[in-house]
Amino acid sequence: MAEVESFALDHTKVKAPYVRLIAQEEGPKGDVISNFDLRLVQPNQNAIPTAGLHTIEHLLAGLLRDRLDGVIDCSPFGCRTGFHLIVWGAPSTEKVAQALASSLTEIRDQTKWADVPGTDKYSCGNFKDHSLTSAKEWAAEILEQGISSDPDVRKVVSAEPAY
Ligand SMILES: [Zn+2]
Repeated sequence: MAEVESFALDHTKVKAPYVRLIAQEEGPKGDVISNFDLRLVQPNQNAIPTAGLHTIEHLLAGLLRDRLDGVIDCSPFGCRTGFHLIVWGAPSTEKVAQALASSLTEIRDQTKWADVPGTDKYSCGNFKDHSLTSAKEWAAEILEQGISSDPDVRKVVSAEPAY
């Protein structure tokens, strides 16, 4: 089987919450795509319950696109400790961490249920499994710990102020 970088990462050594660059790949025409590890909780110590994670996923889909150019996809890890973020280009981990902190701040402080996109049977594959209360609680906890732009050394960024 092909070797996958994420499985070679020592998950006991990292210090969440953090943003980590997993890989940058260049296509045949020179376009660059970056894949980031947005680790919200410490692996094997915690995991975000599915309803809260699902609501965070739906909200990050729009909030990160408002803050970062070239977002292709942001999808939760099966282990429920964070998300993959795939973007065109090569933004710094600081820039991504700021956008993530700012997005979580908006979820914690401003988001109402009516703001959550895709909460009916037409627009989501499991629309009953959502919790904005849980999403807000987890956003608050993650922000309290701070989001580092480095997985090994704590370099906590501030939420981008412009929003
Ligand atoms: Zn959904």
